[in-house]
This record gives sequence, structure tokens and C-alpha cells, in this order.
Amino acid sequence: MSHPTTATDLVERYAALREQIDTLGEHYGRDRCDLELLAVSKTRTSAEIRACAAVGQRQFAENYLQEALVKIEECAELLLTWHFIGRIQRNKTREIAGNFSWVHTVDRPQIAQRLHDQRPRSLGPLNVCIQVNLDGAENKGGVSEQQLPELARVISGFDGLRLRGLMTIPEPVDDLTHQRQPYRRLAQLRDQLAREWPGLDTLSMGMSADMEAAIAEGATLLRIGTGLFGPRNQATATTASAS
Ligand SMILES: *Cc1c(COP(=O)(O)O)cnc(C)c1O
Repeated sequence: MSHPTTATDLVERYAALREQIDTLGEHYGRDRCDLELLAVSKTRTSAEIRACAAVGQRQFAENYLQEALVKIEECAELLLTWHFIGRIQRNKTREIAGNFSWVHTVDRPQIAQRLHDQRPRSLGPLNVCIQVNLDGAENKGGVSEQQLPELARVISGFDGLRLRGLMTIPEPVDDLTHQRQPYRRLAQLRDQLAREWPGLDTLSMGMSADMEAAIAEGATLLRIGTGLFGPRNQATATTASAS
């Protein structure tokens, strides 16, 4: 059984994780300012998020909208930056556009259109990453490489959105060499698009198990959950995914 992460656990894990990221960044010649940690807080409580904020973490990512909205409200006075990294259902775009600063999982024009229409203008443009499906697995989100340039063109035409870069979730593999391949490809695709849209400064890639591969290939936003908060409680995760 996993137990709720205590504040003391978090202080230690956060320091260790930061150090690990710094060490890897240095090893792969990365500039510290270009490598940010996103704390993936799905299934975690507001208390855990507060503990993490208390040691200096500002950016949090959530997958499930209903669960996220509760925590965003409970932590409102901390002025954290919230990223949406889950599958986007059509009927959820209004709440996503109104409550998040970033969305990483835009993969079709209709969703981009809705986010643009529904973004409250007082909040400024919503930062968007396009999710790319690099392995062609049909059951998962992401635009194909072939459709990527067209989607980038559509998004750049919306002033409610600011196209920031690309995101991907590769099939899990164990060894570093294979882990690096999809991330290298994503970086190439971003570089190609950035010739036309220079604002594409973001590569959202790398999770706890393949952080090194992502850092090596140029990740700018690492999405780390278990590496920071410890193992997720499966029962909680299942309930949450139904929301
Ligand atoms: C859960 C999740 C993560 C974090 O995964 P860990 O293995 O816990 O680090 C990152 N990205 C996405 C899209 C996720 O759903």
C-alpha cells in the first residue's frame, strides 16, 4: 500500500530530483534555464501540492478535469501555474480554457477552435502544445506527423491561443537508446516547425522512467509524477480516471 506523501518525504524527494535533473542537464550540455520541472499531481491531494509548493515548485500538471478543478480552487491563493495534460473531451474545453495556463494535449482543429473561442480574453492567450502520436498506436491521442503542419497552421491563426511546442507520450521501453528515439524525432519536428513559427520554444517530453532520454534530446518541460510524489495509489488513479 502506498501512503500519502508526507511533507518530509517531499522535501527530500524534491531536492534529490532537482539534483538529478541538474546533474543530467550538465552531462548533456543543457542550459539550466531551458529545463523545467512540471509536477504531475494527478491523484495527489491539495495537501501534497501545498507541501510541494512550499519547497519551491510552481508548475503543476493534471490529467482529469473534475479532480483538477477542486485542487485549483483549493490552492488558488498560492498562484500556481496549472497545465492540462489529459485527453480533451469536447464538452470540457470551456473549463480547460478558463482554468489552465497551458494545455499539452491539443490534437485536432475542432478542439483548438473551441479553446480559442472559449478562452477568457482577460487571461491572455492559452499556451498550447500539440500532442504528436509518433508510433501510430490507434488507441491513443495525438496528431500524426503528416497532419502536424496543418494543425500548427490552424492553431497559429487563433489569437486566443499561443502555440508553444510539441508533446508526446511514447510507448514505454527500458533502455536509454530506444527511449531517446521518439524524443529525438519530436525535437526534429519542432525544429522544422520553428522555421515558420519561431515562438515554438517548448518540448514537453519525459516522465519519471525516461527522464534522462528526454533531457538528452532537448526536453524543456519534464512531466514528473512518481519521481516526485512516490508511487500512485492504483485505486485512486482508477477512480480519478473515471471523472
Ligand atoms: C501521469 C503522467 C505523467 C507522469 O508520469 P510518472 O511516471 O508518474 O512520472 C506524465 N505525463 C502524462 C501525460 C501523464 O499522464
